[in-house]
Amino acid sequence: MAVHLTRHTDTFSTSPQIHPADLQEIAALGFKTVINNRPDGEGGTEQPTSVQIEAAALAAGLRYAYLPVVSGQITEPQARRFAELLAMSPKPVLAFCRSGSRSQNLYRITSGQSAAQQLAGPAPACHWGDSHDIVIIGGGSAGIGLAASLLKRQKNVQIAIIEPADKHYYQPAWTLVGAGEFDPQASVRPMEAVMPAGVTWIRAAASGLDPDNNKVMLDNGSAITYQYLVVAPGLKLDWQAIPGLQEALGSHGVTSNYRFDLAPYTWSLVKSLKGGKAIFTQPPMPIKCAGAPQKAMYLSCSEWERQGLLAQIDVHFHNAGGVLFGVQDFVPPLMDYVKRYDATLHFHSRLVAIDGPGRRAWFADKDANGEWVRTEQNFDMIHVVPPQTAPDFVRESTLANAEGWVNVNQATLQHVRHANVFSLGDACSSPNAKTAAAARKQIVVVAENLLALRAGDALPARYDGYGSCPLTVEKGKIVLAEFGFGGKLLPTFPLDPTVPRKSAWILKKNILPWLYWEAMLKGREWLARPLEN
Ligand code: FAD
Repeated sequence: MAVHLTRHTDTFSTSPQIHPADLQEIAALGFKTVINNRPDGEGGTEQPTSVQIEAAALAAGLRYAYLPVVSGQITEPQARRFAELLAMSPKPVLAFCRSGSRSQNLYRITSGQSAAQQLAGPAPACHWGDSHDIVIIGGGSAGIGLAASLLKRQKNVQIAIIEPADKHYYQPAWTLVGAGEFDPQASVRPMEAVMPAGVTWIRAAASGLDPDNNKVMLDNGSAITYQYLVVAPGLKLDWQAIPGLQEALGSHGVTSNYRFDLAPYTWSLVKSLKGGKAIFTQPPMPIKCAGAPQKAMYLSCSEWERQGLLAQIDVHFHNAGGVLFGVQDFVPPLMDYVKRYDATLHFHSRLVAIDGPGRRAWFADKDANGEWVRTEQNFDMIHVVPPQTAPDFVRESTLANAEGWVNVNQATLQHVRHANVFSLGDACSSPNAKTAAAARKQIVVVAENLLALRAGDALPARYDGYGSCPLTVEKGKIVLAEFGFGGKLLPTFPLDPTVPRKSAWILKKNILPWLYWEAMLKGREWLARPLEN
């Protein structure tokens, strides 16, 4: 169906913006009531008006209610009204807004403590008006590393981290997990084990930003205020953007190294495939670890080559972009491997739908005349990398740039309009390769600049755009791509970076994970110092 539903209970679901044409289908799915939480006119002419949706809802035999709320500014009367609507409306109910998150937040607030606690866990109490010196949104690579680095500089600085997850992942290992080269359990630790001592952990998700009032809204209905804010919630993997994908993942030969639980499935597929067609997909940029889609292909091919099966496996790489890798220097060595593995490259080819049980995938392909055509491919195995965007609450906030990322100065990582706001990691707008390696360098820049600002000094540090993508071209060898803004090569070691090396493999498999857990997350800034202004 055209509508992407999220089912919360048997009687309540949410979805992003729906259109009048969807209402018959919504009724056919058994819904009895539709609640519209999106103010009219918010999305320009593309957004149907409440009157149009109401007419279509009534024609489909559905009840309809209009309760518009502004993102991040849900008021108590609105929450009460939402609760009343839920109580009195025929069920099941479908509520929607632009992305679905406002409806979801209303539901969480109105479904009371128990639902809030389910999400927040055994959280410290957090009330409207709770105030902190430095608030960091996100306890991932960037958020935890930054907190540790700030505390290394000033032991008494007061930091709160907003983080809903109880596990912290070292995601760069998942490429190796998908190739049977890394124990998945070594890529995860309890969040409490990496949370730096002295940090207040707020176990909730940020749901709205109000930078004019130095306030962050939380999904448990409370809010906190701050003197300085750092936005580091990573990015959103948009699995639902590809119809059929969510349901198919983890079976029918459909996998992705972009999820902790699925990377082992990649390896089990690779091990068991003896012939047929293997497809690897890459969505439009930007994505985290831009090389990861093709790394999965090279390591799979390397295994099939090792087993003497490569000739029986027809390998295809469908890339939504027009180049194999964004930094031209690394394309020739990668092309050598594409030829060696006899992989077929499809540029400007974007996965648009998938039928797992039928083992078919559909792509939007640009033909020779520049027209988009839909093509169908069968597969025995498909490794999918989903489209990626900024998290909804960031995209819907005034901190976002036109593309939805937190709008920072790429050198200082300070927000372009709100001086007391910084951002780093995958969520920020800086045009670097979105990698943990980039975060490692950005942490030092933000730590230096934020503390200088707090002391009333000029910002001393600037970021050169460093990011690193260890391209796993075969089992045991890596092309260690390290580069900054504009594709400038920034190799750490005095060696030709375009040559595949065993030493880089050892670095990725054995040294970088240790560096991550023991240095980066503990405020030890090895291989991370910034340029001075
Ligand atoms: P994350 O580490 O993703 O953390 C974001 C955190 O924010 C999470 O803990 C999340 O729970 C939390 N969060 C989300 N929403 C909210 C909210 N609303 N409120 C509060 N908290 C929230 N990088 C490399 O350097 N080298 C590699 O080889 C490499 N390979 C990769 C391979 C794969 C398969 C993947 C998936 C990634 C790879 N990366 C690699 C990229 C790297 O993991 C990311 O760039 C890095 O983790 C970004 O850090 P971050 O803190 O911005 O985001």
